[in-house]
Amino acid sequence: MSTTTAREADDGCAPAAAPRPVLLDAAATTRCRRRVHLEHVPVEDLPGGPPPSGDDADPGVAMRRADAAAHRADLAARWAELLGPHWTSVPPASGSRARAEATEALLSGPAPVPDFVGGAELPAAEGRRGNVEVLVRAEPGDPASGWWPLVVVRHRVTDPGGGALTSPLGRPHPAAAAPDDTRRIRTVTRDVLRLAHLHRMLRAADLAPPESPGAPVWGGVVGLDADVVVWIDLAAPSGSGGRSALETYDGRHADRLAVAEAARRRAPALAEPSRITECRRCPWWPTCEAELRAVDDVSLVVRGDAALRLRGRGVTTVRELAALDPAVGLPGPPPDDPEVGDGALEGAELREAVALARAWRRDVPLVRRVRRPTVARGDVEVDVDMESLGEDGAYLWGALLSGADIGVEPGYRGFVTWDPLPTRDEGRSFGEFWTWLTDVRARCAERGLVLRAYCYNEQAENRWLRASAERFAGMAGVPPAAEIEEFIASDAWIDLFPVVSDAFLCPHGKGLKRVAPSAGFAWHDPEAGGENSMRWYRDAVALDGGEPDAAQRERLLVYNADDVRATWTLRTWLTSDRVLEVPFVDDL
Ligand code: SF4
Repeated sequence: MSTTTAREADDGCAPAAAPRPVLLDAAATTRCRRRVHLEHVPVEDLPGGPPPSGDDADPGVAMRRADAAAHRADLAARWAELLGPHWTSVPPASGSRARAEATEALLSGPAPVPDFVGGAELPAAEGRRGNVEVLVRAEPGDPASGWWPLVVVRHRVTDPGGGALTSPLGRPHPAAAAPDDTRRIRTVTRDVLRLAHLHRMLRAADLAPPESPGAPVWGGVVGLDADVVVWIDLAAPSGSGGRSALETYDGRHADRLAVAEAARRRAPALAEPSRITECRRCPWWPTCEAELRAVDDVSLVVRGDAALRLRGRGVTTVRELAALDPAVGLPGPPPDDPEVGDGALEGAELREAVALARAWRRDVPLVRRVRRPTVARGDVEVDVDMESLGEDGAYLWGALLSGADIGVEPGYRGFVTWDPLPTRDEGRSFGEFWTWLTDVRARCAERGLVLRAYCYNEQAENRWLRASAERFAGMAGVPPAAEIEEFIASDAWIDLFPVVSDAFLCPHGKGLKRVAPSAGFAWHDPEAGGENSMRWYRDAVALDGGEPDAAQRERLLVYNADDVRATWTLRTWLTSDRVLEVPFVDDL
């Protein structure tokens, strides 16, 4: 029997005669433990057949990876210019082993090495593999001083505020860092743990600066804005219980390594499937879902910690949960195992968990938590939906006007830029959207009519309302930030997501695509979805070259118009008697 593991099969390597040592990248420390297990099981032992083709099969993930690679290349080019002779890059090589050899050859070669080295692959050791965007020499000019890791990421790493420790992009060194009055650190766990992972790799290769008690262990991050380097002391107490990032990392790495090694040597699994938030985007979901369904696992209806708490009290299946009487409570005594929180799943929480289980078993898509849902309605109503591309911008604001006649054509309109993002033309389309909305608000105010504007899950819309006002300040129609804040805080702006969350239990999720069909809405496009829309957008504006695709532009407008019609359908249904046909929680 061969022992090719899932990940090796994924890499297209030939079956190995004997298990190779497990090597984990930094991402394993923030990854589901079951996924780590599945990625190291000999492929012929996989419960659901061949391994998935990996995240790259997801077009959204592949696009984000390509954008991140372009961001890193852009930063490397800027540092090459800013740092001149103090900067060098490891020569390109194919494969991680060749890149590690090229890094080692550069660092230990006869030629003097500059103080900043880009694109390093560190030697695999002690169960770790990994690469780092920049190695920063701890003491400039001192070859024996060791290196700090500096990573480049494509998300924001600070928020407005104060207290982050930053250095200018042209001086990417902790010695040049100072407390920043304008930035507050936005801690992203995976970045911090990756820095800890890289520090441990540098230490294993004898390339880290000497450690001494109380001395800082530096790691740097450059985020999406790419205007400063944020420095983090990995040895400083930071997490719960005063643990440092290094201590947290060490615990997680040891745990994931044990899971992976057990899987590879066919020992009993140290991680079982259980549905968590991460499952939504995990390529292994079909495998895990089949396993969970086969045993009617309770996490199919209550995920994460709640499932652990139920299992701790002996409730392991949906059937068992559905059969409970919430008035009686959970069976059995609280668990002895301190790792399994008892957490008192009782009262309303238990009542709803039981209702979810009963709804799941009867294939009921929604369960009413309240006798009658309420949504504030207006004389004039606008449904709003925005389309964006990752962190690059919002290219389309769609609005559906309905209600009393205010002298503005009712129906859908899309305010769009087809200039590829990022573009200043986004400010033009946003300004036009805001001008239109402001006109609608003013006409309502003149006539003494109540205006309500609706969206579904305001986080994204609010984020781009604020960001657009900031980025395009001064352009025609773009309001000052205070005007945006006034609108967001006003009772004219209504998020339907919390309305739905308060009104229903949703065994199959609370997304608009899940909920609106219960109100009778269907999207024209069977492939409608956020990830697909990003792919359509790239073709619509020829982001990857070639000619812009007019059909994909039309598809995006139809998709956006459908989204706003879906919110219209949902809220008019919510305030109709038809919603009473949804079973009430106590009636199941
Ligand atoms: S589907 Fe869920 S449980 Fe399974 S490996 Fe992925 S994240 Fe883990």
